[in-house]
Amino acid sequence: MALVNENFLKLSQNYLFSDIAKKVNAYKVAHPKSKIIRLGIGDVTQPLAPAVIEAMHKAVDEMASECTFRGYGPEQGYEFLQEAIIKNDLLPRGIHVEPSEVFINDGAKSDTGNIGDILAKDNIICVTDPIYPVYIDSNVMAGRAGDMLNGVWSNVVYMPCNGENGFVPELPKQRVDIVYLCYPNNPTGTVISRAELKKWVDYALANDTIIMYDAAYEAYIQNPDIPHSIYEIKGAKKCAIEFHSFSKTAGFTGVRCGYTIVPKELMAVKVNGEKVSLNQLWNRRQCTKFNGTSYITQRAAEATYSAEGKKQVRETIDYYMGNARMMREAFIGMGLDTYGGENAPYIWVKTPSGMTSWQFFDSLLHEVNVVGTPGVGFGPSGEGYFRFTAFGRKEDCVEAVSRLKKWM
Ligand code: PLP
Repeated sequence: MALVNENFLKLSQNYLFSDIAKKVNAYKVAHPKSKIIRLGIGDVTQPLAPAVIEAMHKAVDEMASECTFRGYGPEQGYEFLQEAIIKNDLLPRGIHVEPSEVFINDGAKSDTGNIGDILAKDNIICVTDPIYPVYIDSNVMAGRAGDMLNGVWSNVVYMPCNGENGFVPELPKQRVDIVYLCYPNNPTGTVISRAELKKWVDYALANDTIIMYDAAYEAYIQNPDIPHSIYEIKGAKKCAIEFHSFSKTAGFTGVRCGYTIVPKELMAVKVNGEKVSLNQLWNRRQCTKFNGTSYITQRAAEATYSAEGKKQVRETIDYYMGNARMMREAFIGMGLDTYGGENAPYIWVKTPSGMTSWQFFDSLLHEVNVVGTPGVGFGPSGEGYFRFTAFGRKEDCVEAVSRLKKWM
């Protein structure tokens, strides 16, 4: 018989959101009349922008005619989208990259999970904690994370982020090979200042560390001093890969499109010390394992950069940020220690009365029929915290807050 990749067996069988779904379904069966409000999973609720829909219809029509039909596209993405990204997302921030450094994908989950393909198994990884679970789980699958001992992976360096350190992670004391940073952060909704980000870039340059920078929520930044991209920091092209997504920026969670920047200056080494370009390796990986994002989807993503598209996308972001502001203020008013929600669509609260994350989850579900996400599901430092998302419909967010206020 074929042997399995036993690393997969090390992963917990229960995925956070399926545990939540099970509890919610059990409650619904017992209380069929209850109106449950879901502010848990980070999915959007507002429809695609009209400019995006129009571009998709146009692209579908092109596919219907022999002279404009498109088959396989470039594995790296169409140049029209790479150019639009460079012109709109990067150049205005003083970031200069070539189209061949921008890889279009089917969303940031794939690339944040797959990037480890081009790096050796023996690298030591470091994460801020709590964190988006894909970074660790994909390293567990690759055999890079070691074994689970007392709730932490033996080969992973965790940098705790909590109320005590103001959610500003310290730099690792030892040398690490790969660091995952995500700002604005999922789940905490907190951001990183330019000065703090510079410390990480300086650390990476001094230690030959690669930073995997997940900027999936950059469009939610309101404060003009907060960096949108790690490449705003000098030297970052020599040490960082950056992931972007149209999912939360433009409601593409069901359409699927994102992009990854792998600068040509970024190098890693062979065991013999010889340097290798990661751009070249990633290109090779994509050409073998990925056949490109659909033409229709890439035209849709391009439309988010038209004048109309930008305006419409901004309106939807403002809608979610309106929810975030309202929820944040209400939670503060209830006396809860509240973080995030100012430059991100996530609000992170300390559970009251020393409850665990799951105890708070159960109380909210049973007593006010509101669903959020237990912080411990994002890592050990998430215990005692709880995540609410601002991606719900405004009426639902208002109703949830009003139920919580009465209950508190
Ligand atoms: N990165 C972070 C931090 C996320 O929270 C998510 C989704 O929730 C993703 C990446 C994946 O986004 P997508 O695959 O939809 O682009």
